[in-house]
Order: sequence, then structure tokens, then C-alpha cells
Amino acid sequence: MDAGNVALLRDIGAGDAASQRRAVARAITLLESTRADHRERADAFLTALPLPAQPAFRLGISGVPGVGKSTFIEALGLHLVAAGQRVAVLAVDPSSSLSGGSILGDKTRMERLSVEPHAFVRPSPSGGTLGGVAAATREAIRVVEAAGYGVVIVETVGVGQSEAAVAGMTDMFCLLQLPNAGDDLQAIKKGVMELADLVVVNKADLDSMAAARAVGQIESALHSASRRAGTAWSPRALAMSALDAGQVASIWRVIEEFRGVQDVAGAAVERRRGQSVAWFWERIDAGLRQAFRSDPRVRASLDETLADVDAGRLLVTVAARRMLTAFGAEPRRASPASERA
Ligand code: GDP
Repeated sequence: MDAGNVALLRDIGAGDAASQRRAVARAITLLESTRADHRERADAFLTALPLPAQPAFRLGISGVPGVGKSTFIEALGLHLVAAGQRVAVLAVDPSSSLSGGSILGDKTRMERLSVEPHAFVRPSPSGGTLGGVAAATREAIRVVEAAGYGVVIVETVGVGQSEAAVAGMTDMFCLLQLPNAGDDLQAIKKGVMELADLVVVNKADLDSMAAARAVGQIESALHSASRRAGTAWSPRALAMSALDAGQVASIWRVIEEFRGVQDVAGAAVERRRGQSVAWFWERIDAGLRQAFRSDPRVRASLDETLADVDAGRLLVTVAARRMLTAFGAEPRRASPASERA
């Protein structure tokens, strides 16, 4: 283990809140680096990282831009810090790699929470694929947990596949919605509803009637959505104003209720186990795909093969088998037994 890692591990494990926070930030920067030598150091560091004495609670929060995510997370974070908890806020924002601009924003967010000694606020790793950004955030979760942050909030925008990625790395997934559910509901129905353990209709102060209607609609959508594995809890919808600290505190009580239900049923542990396995295979798939694409034998004929497929000269399945063979991954013929299954 190199001296840098030893110092990082020491500072993360002990010391005053300020130097610990700096060490956490340095460690996450190391994890986000794409340099091969940094990756080696990062892996050694992660392997040496102690498990937290108490497992942290990981809360995922999503919603469209402007719904009030930062307002809610800041209010919730301040509430928790005032109650003596330590809170880390991480983000998954792959938009910077898709559009060149970040949706969650490089703007200073959560200014009041950021300066709290017992809070740690970190923007999304930038660049790279969603898988890469999510991988870095997952590792960052481990770092803040090892540093003793008891609540880890992972924020993401309600666009694309990032909700599924965040739901796949958290113990509870909470979706923020605007009160005009009637129109928007269509947009969130596709899959995301099934991920949500809690839907919070924010900005209820602007139109409480509309918020109540939205809650009703979402409740019925939640009941018809198929239930996820690893939950003993029935998903709920609630209205809130993130500007009202008392209402934010009430939402936290519901979140604690969720934790209680999940823990008693053993569902929290089961969910994490399922997430780890899914994550392992996701990383294997991503690694193999990258190895395939950068393999010189593949690169030598990939363009030509794709052109043949495009022109209809070659069947897709045949083309894929040829390329896999070129890569050295001879596709196995299915055995009669597995064909029957
Ligand atoms: P984000 O993009 O989802 O992080 O949304 P922000 O937290 O930045 O909020 C967008 C705007 O909505 C800001 O101007 C907030 O002050 C405002 N806002 C957030 N929550 C509420 C709420 O509950 N009621 C009202 N009236 N405004 C809110």
C-alpha cells in the first residue's frame, strides 16, 4: 500500500470533521480518475477501506429539473444534521456526457448544507457513460459510509436511465413530482413508477387541491405497478412543500417508517444483496464490451462487417458470431438440455 493511500485511510477513519471531509473529497477524486495508475491505487484503497460500524441508509432521490430536489435535500439534510446525524449528498448526472452540459448543475447547490461540518455535498462525476458515472458514485458511497456518514442521499435527474441506476444503488428510492400529475403521469409511468418506494408531490403550497388530486392518481398508479423484489413495503404518495421544514420532517418520519418495515422483514439486506449481484454483472458486461471494442482483431474488421450488415449482405446473427469468434469468444452451441429449458 503506498503512502498516499495510508494517509487517506488514516484521515478518513479519524481526525476532526474538517480534515476528514477533505480526505473524503480527495479519495473520491482518486476514484473518479480515469488514469490507469490511479485506478490501481483506487482499487487498493477501496479494498482496504473498513466497513462502517453501522450500515448507512442510502436514499435515492429523483425528479425532473425544477421539481425541488435541491431544496428538499438541503432541508432534509439540515433537519438530519440538527438531529445529530451525518449526511452525505452524492449525485448521478450523466447528462454532461450526453448533452455537454450538466442538468444537476455546476452551480453551487445546497449552500447552507454544504457548509455544515457534518454534511458532505459532492456534485456528480462528469463525463463518461451512465455506467461509468454510476460506478464512480457507488464507490463514493462506500467512502462516505466508511467515514461514518449515516445517511447517504444520491440524487439524480428524472431523465433517461439514471433513475434505474440510482434505484439500483440505494435502500429506498423516492421520486419527486410536480402537482400537475394528470399530464406528467404518462411520462413517469414507464418504468419509473415501479422503482419508487415513495412519491412526493412537491410544491403543494402552490395549489393544494391539484396536489391532492395528483396524490390520488399516483396512489392508484402505484398500486397497479408491479412490486419490486426486495420490498416488504407498499409504495406511497404524499404531498409536501419543500419550503416548509415541518413538512420535510414529516417526510423523514415516513422514510424512517420504511426503514423499520424493511429491516424487520429482512428486505433491506436482501435488496442490497440483489443489487450487488446485478451490479457485478453490469460491470462485467461493460468491461467485456469495452474489451471487445478495443480489441485489434475486432477493430480490423468491425467497420466492414457493420457495412455488410447495413447493406444486407450479411445476417446480423452471423455477423455477431463472426466478430465474437474474431475476438476469441467462440459462442458455445446451446446443449440440448438448455435448449429444452
Ligand atoms: P431541482 O432542479 O429539482 O433541484 O429544483 P430546485 O430545488 O432548484 O427548485 C426549483 C425552484 O422551485 C426553486 O426556485 C425553489 O425555490 C422552488 N421550490 C422548491 N420547492 C418548492 C416548494 O415546495 N414550493 C414552492 N413554492 N417552490 C419550491
